[in-house]
Amino acid sequence: VAGTSCGAVDVHGHAIPETVLDLIENSGHLFGGISVERTDGKFLVTLPDGQKLRPLPRGMTDGPDRRRWMESQSVADQLVAPWLDVQGNGFEHDNGVAWASALNDAMAEGLPTIGERTHLLSTVYPADPEAAINEMLRARDELGAVGVMLATHFPQGSAADAEFEPFWASAAQEQIPVVLHPPIVGPASAIPGDKDFRSLYGRTLETSLAATRMIVNGLFDRLPDLKIVLVHGGGSLPYQAGRLDQQVKDGKINAQTSVEVPSDYLKYFFYDTAMLDPSVVRFLAERVPDRVVLGTDYPFTAASAIVPDQLAGLDPAMRDQVSEGVARGIFDLSVAETVA
Ligand SMILES: [Zn+2]
Repeated sequence: VAGTSCGAVDVHGHAIPETVLDLIENSGHLFGGISVERTDGKFLVTLPDGQKLRPLPRGMTDGPDRRRWMESQSVADQLVAPWLDVQGNGFEHDNGVAWASALNDAMAEGLPTIGERTHLLSTVYPADPEAAINEMLRARDELGAVGVMLATHFPQGSAADAEFEPFWASAAQEQIPVVLHPPIVGPASAIPGDKDFRSLYGRTLETSLAATRMIVNGLFDRLPDLKIVLVHGGGSLPYQAGRLDQQVKDGKINAQTSVEVPSDYLKYFFYDTAMLDPSVVRFLAERVPDRVVLGTDYPFTAASAIVPDQLAGLDPAMRDQVSEGVARGIFDLSVAETVA
């Protein structure tokens, strides 16, 4: 990418810097008992309810690997959230609220060791929307977080529930972008016999469902300025939008929107490119112009999320928009730009 380009922006990365492992190791007992075992260079985290997580992928904790990868892919800036599994959405109330703050502090402290131009996507405790608002604002003001990464679903409800709307109202008012991300628990794991397909289909279905509920609930009529990024290309939502319109028209889905055609609301979301197929990225960039942003899901897809390949189906102007133009318009990365 030539000219005045600042370099590509990856809006969808995950990391667990050493500072977060230290927090878990040294203070995990303060949050109901989250703990970590370090064996053979692997990290095994256990949640307060006794649930043992998958071993941390190496790319999650390693800084040099990530820097090399970013450089090889011409990714200048990466937005980074912790692994969703440790966001603590299932913690009991007081532990969950305190954990979100402690996790954000540790992430902000550790991100410079992961990469110079990495930017924090903060964690909030969604079961308490008021606490979530406070932490979203604190993380922006005190830690320089550029947005929030929020689970579509949490044990106590969904990001599309009416009870959660105060959070969306605040995010819209403050113009804080939210990257909406499906967890591996909840609806994503509820399809019988789907264990092997949880990540591929369970999660993308979960995103489709949450986004569709936001549309038909009329969220964007009330909050047209919301900036929500749907990961994995928005699941199947853009692809099935015609069927959504038909079902609403037939009265099978009750849509409380001011616009008759629900798919007109597709353009209110932003979509990342972590569906990893250049022809599909192109379809999306044409379907919702200026609403598609580069997202890799690093480190989970590091080997396959080859950025130039992902964007190969786009013409040069479109490629600039997808690789950085749109993202730099919604996320304030100015701190990194003045340093660079
Ligand atoms: Zn992800």
